[in-house]
Amino acid sequence: MSQETATEYGDVRNYVGGEWTTPAGSEGQDVVNPATGEPIARVGFSSSGDVDDAVRTGQEAFESWRQRPVEERIQPLFRLKSLLEEHQEELAELLVQEHGKTVAEARGELRRGIENVEVACGIPSLMQAGHVENAAPGIDETAVRQPLGVFAAVTPFNFPGMIPLWFLPYAVATGNAFILKPSEQDPLVPERMFELIDEAGFPDGVVQLVNGGVDTVNAILEHDGIEGVSFVGSTPVARNIYEKGAANGKRVQAQGGAKNHVIVTETADLEFAAEKTVSSALACSGERCLANDNVVVEASVYDEFRDLVVEEIEAQVVGNGLDDDTTIGPLITPDHEEAVRNLVETGVQEGATLSIDGRDIEVDGYPNGNFLGPCLFEDVTADMTIAREEIFGPVLNLMTAPDFETALETMNESDFGNAASLFTGSGAEAKRFRHDAEAGNLAVNAGTAAPMAFFHFGGEKDSFFGDLHAQSEDVVRFYTDEAVYIERWPNA
Ligand code: NAD
Repeated sequence: MSQETATEYGDVRNYVGGEWTTPAGSEGQDVVNPATGEPIARVGFSSSGDVDDAVRTGQEAFESWRQRPVEERIQPLFRLKSLLEEHQEELAELLVQEHGKTVAEARGELRRGIENVEVACGIPSLMQAGHVENAAPGIDETAVRQPLGVFAAVTPFNFPGMIPLWFLPYAVATGNAFILKPSEQDPLVPERMFELIDEAGFPDGVVQLVNGGVDTVNAILEHDGIEGVSFVGSTPVARNIYEKGAANGKRVQAQGGAKNHVIVTETADLEFAAEKTVSSALACSGERCLANDNVVVEASVYDEFRDLVVEEIEAQVVGNGLDDDTTIGPLITPDHEEAVRNLVETGVQEGATLSIDGRDIEVDGYPNGNFLGPCLFEDVTADMTIAREEIFGPVLNLMTAPDFETALETMNESDFGNAASLFTGSGAEAKRFRHDAEAGNLAVNAGTAAPMAFFHFGGEKDSFFGDLHAQSEDVVRFYTDEAVYIERWPNA
């Protein structure tokens, strides 16, 4: 694209070799504010030539970047942390305009992203691998973590300000060069973050931004110069990226979709559980891989818990995320809104009771927004489509189980294993849950099992393909090879 589009934010640019460039591939698509339906920018898609430029530039930059002392490599990250904090409000407002979530949610997201920059600043400790003196007669043995070259990450629409930071700071702190391909739905926050990255003072080519869609991702997967790919997105794409990346000789970590459960037992603090469960299911309009939307309640407390859930849902305010009182913003696109509405209809057809029906929502002043009011299903059974498939919308399913054991069995029947929560007053149930729940991010008496950046972000079953996860030491190991080195001095 050569002509700047007449939208508020113009054309989204790539950042390659320290320069702002225009994607040379297909024309791309509009970036649309989901509350107003108005295009606010246009994102072009990068060609395989654009990807090749970035990879070659990254390879060149890598040669000198990896030689820099680790202490020097983290200085731009300290500056980036300060810049992200300084610009947090501005980034949050931009994020709301392209994604739809509320300002409070956007602030929270950015905070969790910055946390990863902070943890990556500790790379001098995180890169230490181990040393044994006299491992064999006269031999000392040392493991060293070494960077490999150019890595890429492909990220989803739902956390444009956080998920790139699950990878970027660690990849570069370990001495690699890094290319981000953000979601084409909301590329403005990543672009703005790259302006701050530019200011933070990384050498040219160490951190690069390549916008695009499926073809751009395929060019990444097929490029010989890319050592590995970090992916976050839906399960079918994650599986495909894992297979294709591996077939092309790359290391791959691919985080997929989810269907998360909450178990509420009769010993739980029900008021607390209802508040946290509703917020877990409906925050960010349910567009979270950690949203717990299947709630399995012990039958003896079902009625009481259900009434509390209804109260919480009725207190939600649907609207533009920029408005102070909004608690639920719009869905990302009209297509996604339709997909969620279709799933709600499927729930009704399959016999679940739609106790709260948010489908007739109208938001004053925003006739073109992708709004769906919160929906509550009861009488949901594990075999129903709405209980098995990821909905990714403001829909909460209530199920019952005669006891904790049966609830745990229902939960573990899921094909997914991203997250699970238990609300209980029983230590024995909590211990059993920690031991037997088949999910990678677990929480007891917390609605959303979101790990801090100094722990890895879990995921099992169809929610994750690979072995080393995002964040923390796991991702450091993903971005390094561990060489083992032995040394002997016969005359010593
Ligand atoms: P998506 O899979 O549609 O897109 C993710 C990325 O992949 C985007 O950058 C997109 O351009 C690219 N892409 C899309 N289709 C592709 C294809 N056929 N081939 C190659 N690349 C392709 O996901 P989304 O809608 O942006 O994000 C929502 C999904 O992400 C949900 O399923 C959610 O659960 C999941 N998610 C998972 C986690 C996790 O940690 N497990 C975190 C956040 C989101």
